[in-house]
Amino acid sequence: MTIHILTIFPQMVREVLSYGPVGWGVKTGFLEINPVDLRDFALDKHRSVDDKPFGGGPGMVMRVDIIDAAISKLKAQDSKLRSNTSKIVLLSPQGRLFNQQIAQEYSELDHLILISGRYEGVDERVRKNLVDEELSIGNYVLSGGEIPAMVVADAVARLIPGVLGNEESLVSESFSAVGNKKQETRNNDDENKPQFDYPNYTQPAEYKGWKVPEVLRSGNHAEIQKWREEQAKKA
Ligand code: SAH
Repeated sequence: MTIHILTIFPQMVREVLSYGPVGWGVKTGFLEINPVDLRDFALDKHRSVDDKPFGGGPGMVMRVDIIDAAISKLKAQDSKLRSNTSKIVLLSPQGRLFNQQIAQEYSELDHLILISGRYEGVDERVRKNLVDEELSIGNYVLSGGEIPAMVVADAVARLIPGVLGNEESLVSESFSAVGNKKQETRNNDDENKPQFDYPNYTQPAEYKGWKVPEVLRSGNHAEIQKWREEQAKKA
């Protein structure tokens, strides 16, 4: 899978997504991160991607023609980008609220194009004509779409088979679909309650009088499993 990120700060995105499992996933070829510099599509010598809003008002607005040119170039390079195994997403505080289920859906695509806004935002014609959906990472306003795009890219990348290395860590993870299914069969009342990860402990077994729960040191795997399931429900 390739995650394309359209931005005026490609270096920021490249740097942050080079760490941890996502960076490893890129190095080992499980996924590709393609930061696209919107300034490469600018029409003037200042490489500007924004202009004043029609009708007046504060700030600058990102231009539709620049964003369209960047998307068109990607589509011309790869025919899969024109199929339904790809999605174009505008990061925006007004969008659908991002969650683990959306991350799972996106992780099954061949291409995900994330558009990061800056300034006052993006020309409305981008939303109306160029994207499949608008996505928000929370009900607050950030100064740019780069951090939201990286949040989405990170959450999606770690769900791509192979990226995490240890697939088992996905099974019990908070919000995981597998975890939720397990819980549904156990207790239908809790169907809509998210499943969280169980609490983890490591050495030292006792620190400042804070002890690791006895059951985890008992060696009784059935008891440990039972305890973990109960704790995950409590979270
Ligand atoms: N004037 C706009 C905010 C623009 S913030 C408004 O009031 O709605 C500039 C850019 O940051 C946006 O275009 C978007 O790409 C990004 N952004 C800010 N907050 C975000 C959020 N919560 N989720 C996703 N993207 C966000």
